Amino acid sequence: MPWYRKLHWQIILGLLLGLAFGVIAAANGWQVFTRNWVAPFGKIFLNGLKLIAVPLVLASLINGVASLSDLKKLSRIGGKTIAIYLITTAIAVTIGLAVVNIMQPGHRVPEDMRNQLQETYASDASSQETAAAGAKERGPLQVIVDIVPDNFFGAASNNSNMLQVVFVALLIGIGLIQVSPEKAKPVIAFVEGMNDVIIRLVDLIMLMAPIGVFALIADTITSVAGGDLGQIVRLLGALGFYMIAVVLGLILHMAITYTGLLKLFTKMPIRTFYAGMGPAQLVAFTTSSSGATLPVTMERCEEKLGVSEEVSAFVLPLGATINMDGTALYQAVAAVFIAQALGMQLGLGAQLMIVLTAVLASIGTAAVPSAGIVMLVIILEAVGVPSAGIALILGVDRILDMLRTVTNVTGDATVATVVAATEGQLGIPDLSEEADHIRMRPA
Ligand code: ASP
Repeated sequence: MPWYRKLHWQIILGLLLGLAFGVIAAANGWQVFTRNWVAPFGKIFLNGLKLIAVPLVLASLINGVASLSDLKKLSRIGGKTIAIYLITTAIAVTIGLAVVNIMQPGHRVPEDMRNQLQETYASDASSQETAAAGAKERGPLQVIVDIVPDNFFGAASNNSNMLQVVFVALLIGIGLIQVSPEKAKPVIAFVEGMNDVIIRLVDLIMLMAPIGVFALIADTITSVAGGDLGQIVRLLGALGFYMIAVVLGLILHMAITYTGLLKLFTKMPIRTFYAGMGPAQLVAFTTSSSGATLPVTMERCEEKLGVSEEVSAFVLPLGATINMDGTALYQAVAAVFIAQALGMQLGLGAQLMIVLTAVLASIGTAAVPSAGIVMLVIILEAVGVPSAGIALILGVDRILDMLRTVTNVTGDATVATVVAATEGQLGIPDLSEEADHIRMRPA
């Protein structure tokens, strides 16, 4: 098959063309045209992905749990998954702190730019602070209360309730194990069929990915530039070192932690892992949402990396909501950067506090664009840094959001692969392009 017919190359092409179009559009003042005639295609693609997220999690998790022979296995997989998620997030934060303390990017922002940034983004910063105040007022056990919905249809009607959907699917799956086989059989057959249909829908929606990615990236560039391309260049100049610190941290975390885990627990070559996950990472990059990317992540893990459905259906939806290594790492770098830029010193105690709050905050961060910056306000308050300081970094946040979301999704897939390997449920990776194409039912 020629390279240009392969999905990941098509997506990369869409991304590059979208980038070029975005820059030209921003330079020529085509914002309104882009918003009215290009952006909607990105929205359609995004909606397509979001629309199948809840049915996919429900069908595949019920199916996965119902096929378990004993419930001990479920709690073993659950315990293992949560432990690895927490450990990798703590490592990510530590890497972020090491990079930011060595590079000291906060000391490199020119004084006049600092004042200008604080002025320009003051009102945006205060709206993030209001959002954070709402999140902070919740009691310590509210996170657990929120997992149990009071209405099944209510839970299933909102994508941000993914943990509730996971909870309901687990309950139904457990119920199915406990009723008599002849009662359970038709329900399981239905769920199995639904599951296959939805996985096919992911393939169908992904056919639109190159166009969707083009539109999303073009729209992002014209919105960030806001009619003044020079503004992006000036921001990149002033915040360049901060951005390099975040990006370096993310690369180090993926190269050390994820590679280490894959090498330690699986025999999968790193190239195979990235070749399989490439399209999901590209979707994460353009959508900035691990929630919207979830259907693609699940499909790639199961169909390309050989992760069993039982493991993927449990580990990945959980990961999309509670495992955000990229976000936690970024929060650590950003918190110290803001403190440095405001001339404050954060001692060891404050930095340990950052580790703790960033790990906890990443669990509570929604898998949607810009969620990380709201939780950053809470971290800043915990270590006594003025939260209005986020005005300094808001201008480049979207770009970093795209990159940290890639890390978040890669982390979920790494843990799913590792858990599958330790459970003896990692099949042989299948990177043939066959699965990217719509298969028709045999006649
Ligand atoms: N956009 C991120 C995600 O969905 C969350 C964040 O860091 O803002 O994974």
